[in-house]
Amino acid sequence: MTIQEKNIEFSKLKSEIIKKATLKECFLKETQEECSSNIVNAHSLQRMGSLSILEREINGNQKIFALTEKQINPNTGKSELLPIGKKTASTFFGFCGNHDSKIFAPIEQNPELIDLDLDEHCFLLSFRAFAISYHRKKENIHLLSINDEELKTKLRKYFNHNNLDAQLEGEKLGLQDMNPNKEILTNALYSKDYSCLDFFIYELDYTVPTAMCMLTSPPYLFNGKAINISTNPEYQYSDIFTSVIPLKSRTLVILASMKNDPFGSIYLDELENMYELPLQKALTWHVLTNAENCFFSPEWFENLNTSQKQYIVDLSEFSGSLTTPYLKYNPKEFKLNLFDSKYALVTEK
Ligand SMILES: [Zn+2]
Repeated sequence: MTIQEKNIEFSKLKSEIIKKATLKECFLKETQEECSSNIVNAHSLQRMGSLSILEREINGNQKIFALTEKQINPNTGKSELLPIGKKTASTFFGFCGNHDSKIFAPIEQNPELIDLDLDEHCFLLSFRAFAISYHRKKENIHLLSINDEELKTKLRKYFNHNNLDAQLEGEKLGLQDMNPNKEILTNALYSKDYSCLDFFIYELDYTVPTAMCMLTSPPYLFNGKAINISTNPEYQYSDIFTSVIPLKSRTLVILASMKNDPFGSIYLDELENMYELPLQKALTWHVLTNAENCFFSPEWFENLNTSQKQYIVDLSEFSGSLTTPYLKYNPKEFKLNLFDSKYALVTEK
């Protein structure tokens, strides 16, 4: 089989598996307030227009890049990013129409008016990031629980390992860890008391070429102390709720952590105490090494040189793999800065 044929086969396999995994279920179905019967595609980066801001024309079509969308280059034999359409890039059927429109109205009716000095706005963005990651976990559990040998053979090929049961157990434990926080966050949503979260906010007066919305579990603090690395099921993880939202003439960065997690607030404090340039580089590291629900503009990525592009792909593969050692941030060696004003996108005002 040629590399080209392998790419086509893998992309078919991937779309079949994503279809099987897709769940349509409202995050707030257990609350007092009734769900409507329709489950909407509630992807915040779509909703806020961020993906439209990032997309650029490639061979006649509007495309963006995501670190999860790759193919093998037939000439070099190496992984490279594959440009994709924004509609295929991000679907999230995690809220019913009723909850979605009611809850997120303060930030989505007019994203240009989002004010990071308002805890309500920071909370809603972070709440959405949590809901996306929670929904993805449920989808993975659903997928891995389907009792179909033919599908299981495909999944082993897709995930490139044989121990699907261990993967399922891991996902179940992860969801179990998230459940108490889901309850705390839902209570905060309705009581409008947002004190369960610590926030780190950062705003730029130009449009950066990246967008992201998800929960991340960094393996180390920036000072090198290990966190979130444990095989003990009782270990308490410290997730970082991450939103990077490019808008027409500014960019919002909101990181949040549960106050009762052991290391989340320390991680945010480290960023708080950095000067501008080290901060931008540290945020770039945070984005690129956790980049699941994360997108880039071709205007930035296409203009990087070959070794920079390769470095980014390698970094994400290495940090996303379960079989490679965890990566530690080294500010002296790490040179990339996604938040550099020289990469600011030209947007229609
Ligand atoms: Zn609902």
